[in-house]
Amino acid sequence: NGPQKLEANILLLGAENVGKSALTVRFLTRRFIGEYGSIESIYNHSDRVDGREICFNIWDSLYPQNCDLHGCISEKQLRWADGFILVYSICDRASFNVVRQQVQQIRQFKKLPSGMDKVPIIIVGNKRDLQHRRTVSSEEGRLLAMSADCGFFETSAAETYHGVLLVFHEVLDLIREARTVK
Ligand code: GDP
Repeated sequence: NGPQKLEANILLLGAENVGKSALTVRFLTRRFIGEYGSIESIYNHSDRVDGREICFNIWDSLYPQNCDLHGCISEKQLRWADGFILVYSICDRASFNVVRQQVQQIRQFKKLPSGMDKVPIIIVGNKRDLQHRRTVSSEEGRLLAMSADCGFFETSAAETYHGVLLVFHEVLDLIREARTVK
């Protein structure tokens, strides 16, 4: 029978236009297609990771027009997610500030399942291929992640599949870790 299939609900958050869909599609298909519709979707993707069957449920969210009392993350999203990928663009300072706010909102409002001491969050600075337009340094990204106890990566959904794969595998690792801590 083998070990039970593991489900991981992963929510991508962040401002508009930072590459949430590009990262999601890269992970799912290994491709970069350049243009992505603005539809909100949850994708199911099964894969073997370290010999174990994993079902990734990936919610590629839209940044809302109106934010409510839990900030710009809905109650439903907070409840649904086992782990979060917060994306900004290294060429968009405002998008970095959105991530800063969303980290705080998650740490404040996400109810932890019993036995879990920390919600898995990865902060991602995307579009690292656009160095000449960079306005957020790697150091700033790393510092924010450290201060909020999150993982940190810079990626280019446009250039490489490998870096994107690392992000999804890291959030999966954190989810597995969080579930085994008692
Ligand atoms: P979302 O609104 O956060 O889902 O952003 P999208 O995935 O729709 O991407 C917004 C725009 O940025 C699109 O034109 C993408 O082709 C582009 N884009 C996404 N990721 C990258 C990247 O890593 N590098 C570059 N140069 N462009 C990217």
